[in-house]
Order: sequence, then C-alpha cells, then structure tokens
Amino acid sequence: MNQPTVKADPSCMDDYDPDSLLADDAIRRICDQVAPVEGVEKVAIRSALQRILATDLHSTIDVPGQTNSAMDGYALQSGDLPDDGSRTLKVVGTAWAGRPFEGAPGPAECVRIMTGAPMPAKMDTVVMQEHASRDGDFIRIDARHKPGQNVRAAGEDIAAGECVLPVGKRITPADLGLMASLGIGEIRVRRRIRAAFFSTGDELRSIGEPLASGMIYDSNRYTLYGMLARLGADILDMGVIPDRREDTFKAFRDAAGCADVLITSGGVSVGDADFVKEALDATGRVEFWKVAMKPGRPLAFGSVGDALFFGLPGNPVSVMVTFYLFVQPALRRLMGELAQAPLLLKARSESRLRKKAGRTEYQRGVLMDDANGDLVVKKTGPQGSGILTSMSEANCFVILPLEAESVEPGDIVTVLPFSEIA
Ligand code: AMP
Ligand code: MG
Repeated sequence: MNQPTVKADPSCMDDYDPDSLLADDAIRRICDQVAPVEGVEKVAIRSALQRILATDLHSTIDVPGQTNSAMDGYALQSGDLPDDGSRTLKVVGTAWAGRPFEGAPGPAECVRIMTGAPMPAKMDTVVMQEHASRDGDFIRIDARHKPGQNVRAAGEDIAAGECVLPVGKRITPADLGLMASLGIGEIRVRRRIRAAFFSTGDELRSIGEPLASGMIYDSNRYTLYGMLARLGADILDMGVIPDRREDTFKAFRDAAGCADVLITSGGVSVGDADFVKEALDATGRVEFWKVAMKPGRPLAFGSVGDALFFGLPGNPVSVMVTFYLFVQPALRRLMGELAQAPLLLKARSESRLRKKAGRTEYQRGVLMDDANGDLVVKKTGPQGSGILTSMSEANCFVILPLEAESVEPGDIVTVLPFSEIA
C-alpha cells in the first residue's frame, strides 16, 4: 500500500536551502545597484559633523605656517654648535609664540625662544633650555646637539594644496578641528537622504493604544528610527499598515513619491496575509530572496518608483541584523560615503553556541576582557529572532560561518563589535 506523501518545500526552519543566496552575494548585488544622491549643500563646519563630504578638501595654507620651535630654549645657527668641548653664545633677544623676534642675529649669537615661536632669521636649530647653562646675557652649550634639532618645518604637517579630506569622508570631531586649523569655515556636503518606513501586521499596536489579546506593540519602527537617525537620514515614519490589500498598495504609492528609500518590516515571508509581494509586483521592481543567514532569511530588495526598497522580515532581531548587514551599507553608499570594511576581532567564546551547518549566524554576544586582558565573548541568553533583549544586552555579533557547527567553550570565534557598525 502506498504511503501518503508529506509536502517538503524548503522552509524558514531548514538550515540547508538550495535556493538561498549567500549574505555576501546579497550585499554585493544590493550595493551594485546603488548610486550616491546628487544634491550637494554648503554648510558651516559645525553643522557638517557626521555629514558626507561632497568634494576633496584641499588646504590653502601650510601647517605650520612658519618654521617654528618645538621646545622652550635657545635658537641658534647650526654652524655655532661645538664639535667637542663647549661654546658660549650671546643671547640677543626673545622670540614668543605670536610675537616673533624681528632682528637678524649674527655668528656666536642666539635668541631665547618659546615653543611655537617662529624661528628668527638664519637660525635653524634649537637647544632646549635644560641643556643650556645661562649666565646673564650668555649661555654655554656642549657638543651633544644635532643641526636642525627641535625645529618644526613650515608645511611639515600639511602643505598648501595637499588633499586633507577625501570626497566621501564622514566628518568626525577631528575633521572639524582639522578644517578649523586650515581656516575653512564652510564645506560642501551631500544632501541628507530621506528614508520612509512602515510596519505591516494586523497584530501591531502603537504606543498609547490598548493591547487586546493576541496584539503586540510595534517595536520595529523604533529600532529602524534609531538606526536611521544614527546614520544621519531624514526620517518619515508612516506607521503601521494593516494586512489589507488596499492599505498596502496605498502605502507603497505614497512612499514612492517622497522618499529616497523605503523600508518595510514584516510580510515578506509566505504567510497568507502577506500583501507586500503583491503590492510590489504592482508598484515596483523587486526581487524576493532567501538569504542563507540566521536570523533574517527572507529579504526583498529593489525599487518602488524612484525609491530604493528593502522589505525586511518581521521579527525584531531579524530587522536589526538585516538592516545592519544589507540596508546600512547601501544607505551609506546612497549618502555618498566611502565604503569602509568594519573591523572584525577574534575572541575566545566562554559559551557553548548551538548551530547547524548551512547558514551564517549572527548571534548576539558581550565582548569583554578576561583577567589576563584577553578578549572573550559570552552569548546573551536565548537567541530567538523575536528576543530583542538579546540585542539590547549585546555589544557585538558573534559571526558563525555558513558551514560551521556548534562552538564549544574555549573555541575562537569572529566578533563584529557594535561600535564598528553603529
Ligand atoms: P511576519 O514577517 O510579518 O510574518 O512577522 C514575523 C514575526 O514578527 C511575527 O511574530 C510578528 O508578530 C513579528 N513582527 C512583525 N512586525 C513587527 C513589529 N513591527 N514589531 C514587533 N514585532 C513584529
Ligand atoms: Mg506579518
């Protein structure tokens, strides 16, 4: 007698899925389709913090502007340094930072000089004050000195015309100081990008609404808000869209008209109430991918009108992992930022990390020093894709490669610190 057959389509719970895409390939395919926004604006440097430089920035001046002393001491001509024994020089004046010595000292003469003061004419060497014995208007120096010592050459830090900051640089506090040191008050940066997002799901309620049985509060709009705000995007929060065909279609049409990028969460798997696919077939050019990763396998990517589109999974941890992995690099590119690979570290796992081969896993961990100062990592409790506390307690992802299986305590693992991505 024939046994009844049971359907065996690949599902989210399988580890090996022949149709799934590697995470790295997905990132590459996404980034290949993104070009920087074209708009540029001029802003005062203080307002440029975290913005993306739209042009190479060149210095118009030498830094330091003049050859000057690196020490408090005495400026002299190297020809007056004794080869052996000692020598007496006459002190003919003083050079202060901001108040140069204007005279032209001759042989066997020197000038008292302060750190940062311009070198007087013909003087090329500074003897620090601790190495000179002063007696009235005279100093005595010995043979330990080298010609040119303790002098900072004009332009030694930055030469006029040199490129100091490259196009695509995200402006840091150090960059603000650097620009100020060059007398640059305004720079050209890329315009901000505008990111719209909404959540899908009949079960979602917003803060302030009562929670009936079976309902949950929408958290994805808040994590998305935080991650986008940190990147420096302008944000359009479109709220919760119920699982109804008409609402979903309308939300896509609305977003397409006013954003550079649209991000949705939920409704990209194969549930019956998932209208995202259908709405996208009608309004955009979108591909649905299964990525060989955990958490966060289903992902949609493409465009809706002129906006880039990312359809992220619904589970709160999946949203964050897929955002950091796929959306953030794409948005940085859209913003015009130079790509920079995050710093990965190796650490010893103190936990047993359960895993099956077939998907790259992004488990959440706490990275710290042990008593010997070595890097160790511990997992943050249960790793379910709905457990947001696992992200909140973590300070890193523990990246377990596609083919890897469970990790035992003491094994070395690869870690991506959150400070590298956020
Ligand atoms: P979905 O991909 O729509 O099937 O959602 C997967 C899981 O994530 C379900 O348990 C949803 O209730 C949950 N979920 C979806 N969207 C959100 C959200 N915005 N906030 C919190 N949980 C969500
Ligand atoms: Mg849903």
